[in-house]
Amino acid sequence: AVRIRGLRKSFGSATVLHGIDLDIAEGEVTVVIGPSGSGKSTLLRCVNHLERPDSGFVEVDGEVIGYHPTGGRLRERSPRDVARQRSRIGMVFQQFNLFGHRTAAQNVAEGPISAGASRADATATATALLDRVGLTGKDDAYPRQLSGGQQQRVAIARALAQQPRLILFDEPTSALDPELVGEVLGVIRDLAAERMTMLIVTHELGFAREVADTVVFVDDGRIVESGPADAVLTSPVHERTRAFLSAVL
Ligand code: ATP
Ligand code: MG
Repeated sequence: AVRIRGLRKSFGSATVLHGIDLDIAEGEVTVVIGPSGSGKSTLLRCVNHLERPDSGFVEVDGEVIGYHPTGGRLRERSPRDVARQRSRIGMVFQQFNLFGHRTAAQNVAEGPISAGASRADATATATALLDRVGLTGKDDAYPRQLSGGQQQRVAIARALAQQPRLILFDEPTSALDPELVGEVLGVIRDLAAERMTMLIVTHELGFAREVADTVVFVDDGRIVESGPADAVLTSPVHERTRAFLSAVL
């Protein structure tokens, strides 16, 4: 489960997150929608501590990310401890971010190997996960030999290899040709059915409606509206949500 409280983040004089409160129950899927520049990526990056919040905190399964709560104050964790926390929070980006000089299997095996698995075990894990995302037999392919949709599925397998308690997706299909979007959404849909806890930024509203337990509309660094996917997407309460939805539909 994820608990975000009072999360604030500024870059210079620009406040990008104005105090975000958000809960994601174990096994639930939350989709974040909102205009460009509203702070969606910054929110995701704060969750795995790629950005350090100015105040507030993110808690995953009871552990504050990046900090030790000591007597009501937050003390920074060591880089090694943050790396340990981050390894259990999968992140899948718009641009697949695979290592170009490593095969699909090597990209997936990387995490388990750095966590101490033997090369043989990590390779077996990679083969099984590539199979799970529909890439049977692609172990030895290099990213440049794969389509965008296949590369993104390798990225998802790589996240799964770390046995994540949460996966963050930042517009996972926005860089894909339209005919490749479905295969990536299909994998995410399977993960939702298996009750993986996920926080997903996407503009695919049909998909959001189908997989999200909760949809959150963010504008200008604030949660304007959140609730069950159907409610927010079909009968939004706030004028800004309505304006956004009619602009993107
Ligand atoms: P998009 O839909 O275009 O991806 P977004 O909702 O993900 O937008 P963010 O990327 O979180 O928005 O950016 C929110 C604001 O913060 C933007 O104005 C952006 O320019 C600014 N910003 C983000 N990262 C940085 C940074 N590292 N330094 C300075 N400004 C930043
Ligand atoms: Mg973004």
